[in-house]
Amino acid sequence: MGIKLTVKSGRSETVPMQNVGYSPSELGPEILSQVEASGVGSFWATDEHGNLVYLSPGALASLGGSAGKLLGAPIATIFVDAEDDEEQTNIRPLSFSVVSKSKIENQIVQVQAPSEVDSGRQNPRWWRISGTPFFDQDGIFRGYRGNCVDITLEYRHQQDVNRQSQFDELTGLANRRRLNGRLKTILSAYQAAGRSCALMMLDLDRFKQVNDTMGHPAGDELLKQVGDRLKSLVKDRGEVGRLGGDEFQIILPDFDDRGELGNLASRIIQLLSQPYSINGRRAMIGTSIGIAIAPYDGLETTDLNRAVDLALYAAKESGRGTYRFYTAQLREEAARGADVQDQLRDALEKGEFKLNYQPLVNPHDGNVKCFEALMRWDRPGADNISPAVFIPIAEQSDLIVKLGDWALHQACMDATKWPDRIRLAVNVSAKQFMTADFCKAVDSALRKSGLNPSRLELEITESVFVGEVDSVDTTFAKLKKMGVRLALDDFGTGYSSLGYLKRAPFDKIKIDQSFVRGCTESGDTNPAIISAIVAIAGALGMETVAEGVEAMDELELVSERGADLVQGFIYSKPIPQEDLIERFDKGLHSFTPDGPPRYRSDRYTSYRKVGLIHEDHYYDIMLRNISKSGARIEGLADVPVGTKVVLDLGGGQLAVAKVAHSTPTSQGVEFEVPLVNDGTNGLVTSRRVSPYALAEAGMPLAALGPGSYPMSQVEDGEKLPPKFVQLELGSRAA
Ligand code: C2E
Ligand code: MG
Ligand code: MG
Repeated sequence: MGIKLTVKSGRSETVPMQNVGYSPSELGPEILSQVEASGVGSFWATDEHGNLVYLSPGALASLGGSAGKLLGAPIATIFVDAEDDEEQTNIRPLSFSVVSKSKIENQIVQVQAPSEVDSGRQNPRWWRISGTPFFDQDGIFRGYRGNCVDITLEYRHQQDVNRQSQFDELTGLANRRRLNGRLKTILSAYQAAGRSCALMMLDLDRFKQVNDTMGHPAGDELLKQVGDRLKSLVKDRGEVGRLGGDEFQIILPDFDDRGELGNLASRIIQLLSQPYSINGRRAMIGTSIGIAIAPYDGLETTDLNRAVDLALYAAKESGRGTYRFYTAQLREEAARGADVQDQLRDALEKGEFKLNYQPLVNPHDGNVKCFEALMRWDRPGADNISPAVFIPIAEQSDLIVKLGDWALHQACMDATKWPDRIRLAVNVSAKQFMTADFCKAVDSALRKSGLNPSRLELEITESVFVGEVDSVDTTFAKLKKMGVRLALDDFGTGYSSLGYLKRAPFDKIKIDQSFVRGCTESGDTNPAIISAIVAIAGALGMETVAEGVEAMDELELVSERGADLVQGFIYSKPIPQEDLIERFDKGLHSFTPDGPPRYRSDRYTSYRKVGLIHEDHYYDIMLRNISKSGARIEGLADVPVGTKVVLDLGGGQLAVAKVAHSTPTSQGVEFEVPLVNDGTNGLVTSRRVSPYALAEAGMPLAALGPGSYPMSQVEDGEKLPPKFVQLELGSRAA
């Protein structure tokens, strides 16, 4: 028995149907036609070349106008594998089955006529097809015999469901599932191609406050606007997604320059910190950002996600409204943070905190107008930790309130021993400021010490304005009524908005160090910003302070631009109360500027051991200070000026440098490519040696840990004798 197949050419042939699983051979052609007509199933067949020679009339008809062109065409071009079908990812492509003459089982395909691809696109049909290869008695392949079912509706529905499961309903951004999937795909493809991919993780600061005080619908609206702002900034450079809550993530393929990433992160922080209008009300939030880059910080999604989490955590800890790159040290620091929290509690009871005072000086006559109280933690037998580190840790619990209370009381007591005309400034953490009892604490400190309220100035940062803010206004009003003065600290960082200035009754604005530091470098916009802040403050009747002035040229610039007061190492570092009293006893009420004539771009002192590569040799050296443009190193004897070296700063950070000055035991080197800011007062190289490059040189492929550049381990071949004498390191570090 056989059935008649109509071939496009009109030629007819009879094909025996035995050996075909579905064969209705015994039932006869009539039944076959009945099955076809009922729509339960349709049949197809190919010739030995894989060209379609038969398709049930119903199936042909369902394809409309393009149907006639199908017959005679290769099935691999007619039945196209459905894209992006998660269920099908394990199934081999149809073309593969056809070439290998293997069985086709329940494969979902899009049906298209070769010459009418476009019309096929407009109204695509999806079929589920099965087919069995048919061999004749001599074992010669004669073609496929198969069946097919139209599943277009079902398929479309499934695709909609898939899409919904990939995107966040609220913001329309990619959701966690999609982000993870994308990252996984990118990382595995990029590993093969040796490419890099950056991951940014954002957590909104004070979002919870907006949600709690303005209601969840307002919170939702805010999240939508955040998503829009992020998309407008990132554009097609990467994919923005929301992980849930107030956490967002951005995947940035082919980004590995930390200078560029830092700029993008700053712009995101700026943009998200601008006020939002929600149903006619205003809300403010900020954001912290962690950044990790594959392959340097992690090769797989889990590693990279862990790295970016740690970086975000560090960014939040370092004061919010900042970004931070992942470094291997962060892992250690995270562990230390938990320790510090415990130690802080003890320290307060043991009386390990003290206050030092830094003068705010009138630059025109050197007279001191005010001293700012700055907390110091004298840890017996341990390194000192900066308040910039321990204050944010204290802020994670109610410890900050106790610590802040103590500082307020102690400082007020100390100030009563100073001349009456000199004011006292005390830093107040936003968390402390927002407690219900804050005004009472201020009142108590004033009454216990007997300090005149007009001599007390409270320094608060812009972060108190973030979130919903009625209670903040009330606190301001109460403090003003008490006669206390208010200063806005660190103005220009993080959340900067001129709106704050108009709203709150500040007496003083402190221009943040970041605008002052390096303000004399040519082409810098900072002088203009300083002028603008001074002008606005003047118009609003506020005093201005330039913070962090270190060099003579900076002093000259800020006083010329109209800053009323100057605070910085140029006049004095923070000094203990005893020394202050001694000064006053001697009748010393003024300070003389003393500092380098010119600003040296962000020079940080350091006692870090790093590596230096010269020719075939790897030397251990001590980094004594480092700036964007260069470093001072110790540990090698008599290195001539002009020598080219490579500094190994750890974690794949190699900086090519040239010796610019030299003494018998130390050298000043200049970097070929300037270092960039790591987001929190540290410096890093823009780029790192890729683990791929190291893998090519025979190292196992792994994310870069500290000091992982293995120059010292590359010990093959003939080496030139070392040019320089390595000096003993330990002795000089003290
Ligand atoms: P801040 O209130 O902006 O204080 C100014 C910081 O800049 C101080 O750092 C000061 O030592 C430093 N500084 C002043 N002049 C210069 C200079 O010319 N160059 C450089 N490089 N730095 C200069 P410090 O003492 O480490 O304090 C850091 C931050 O910790 C303070 O920033 C403040 O936000 C916080 N803090 C300090 N004491 C307290 C406190 O008692 N309570 C609270 N809530 N925060 C405090
Ligand atoms: Mg301050
Ligand atoms: Mg400040």
